Amino acid sequence: MMHTVQFGETINKVAFQYSIRPFDILLFNREIFSEQQYIYPGMKLYIQNGTFRQDQMDWLGLTEFNQHDLEGMLLRLQQNGVEKDVIGYSVMNKQIYAFKIGTGKKKVFYSGGWHANEWITSKLLAYFIYELSEKQKDQQRWHGYSVEQLLRDSTLYVVPIVNPDGIELVQQGIYKEHPHFRQVLEINKGMRSFDHWSSNIRGVDLNHQWPAGWAKEANESPKVPWPRHYSGQKPLTEPEAKAIYNYTNQHQFDYVLSFHSQGQVIYWGYNHLEPEVSAEMVSRLSYVSSYLPIKTAESDGGYKDWFIQHYRKPGFTIEVGVGVNPLSPDHFSEVWSNNCLLCLEALIL
Ligand SMILES: [Zn+2]
Repeated sequence: MMHTVQFGETINKVAFQYSIRPFDILLFNREIFSEQQYIYPGMKLYIQNGTFRQDQMDWLGLTEFNQHDLEGMLLRLQQNGVEKDVIGYSVMNKQIYAFKIGTGKKKVFYSGGWHANEWITSKLLAYFIYELSEKQKDQQRWHGYSVEQLLRDSTLYVVPIVNPDGIELVQQGIYKEHPHFRQVLEINKGMRSFDHWSSNIRGVDLNHQWPAGWAKEANESPKVPWPRHYSGQKPLTEPEAKAIYNYTNQHQFDYVLSFHSQGQVIYWGYNHLEPEVSAEMVSRLSYVSSYLPIKTAESDGGYKDWFIQHYRKPGFTIEVGVGVNPLSPDHFSEVWSNNCLLCLEALIL
């Protein structure tokens, strides 16, 4: 049969949908010469002997994750009682989704997918909130935690994908019909590979945009739009960062965890402004994840920096996984096993 490539698809994803190997796509499509090659919307692929998969959840770590996968989970999240909110729109007008579960007084916020080539954090958070809602529905314990109790004490807010446009760029590359085709190629100096891209689609780093030592960080970073580390012309120019800014101010979270990859470390301080309790909290996060606590990253302008400075409340950056970004899909099992416990423990810090 013929498959027409959709927005956000990769070779791994098409193979997964039809329960075949990525290599089978290479075998029957001569223009595809590598499993890592980008495939563009509208492209036709010949699929030999595929059976369409009903359940699109990928626990085996075979595929990438992006906005389309998250949208594919919306119905089941809703059926499990998870509240959905659209807190803003990306440069390319994609929804920035926030989810809420629980009724407790303590308000906790997890965010991921800030950096385009760190999409594995988005999959972690989307799967986590889904599993949490499954366990709640069935009144199960999860790794010894009473989910019912957790969600009576705490309310969890999650934005799995802060940077949907960038994530799609890293997974699908650029093609003529892409609305930012020329601009992206210019920023990328004509290169067609985007593995190193962490910015949003306009070449602004969404975790360099925050009014906490912004000028200092901007001064030491690229001065024009760049695949990574460009801070923008001033703080919070980008709609994705602005959406998180408004959402954070609106909800007054007790503490926040922002997820990045990679390094298996947890940053927890900023300019000695973090409250004393942060040290104890990070030691618990470290214990359950086996990730190393590090007080400061010697950098400024990040979301958790701003949160600590502005609210004088605990903020953490979790660097999941180890390897070179983007981590390949099969890193998911390590990321999941270490951070599933961390995400549970973090609900009751
Ligand atoms: Zn990052």
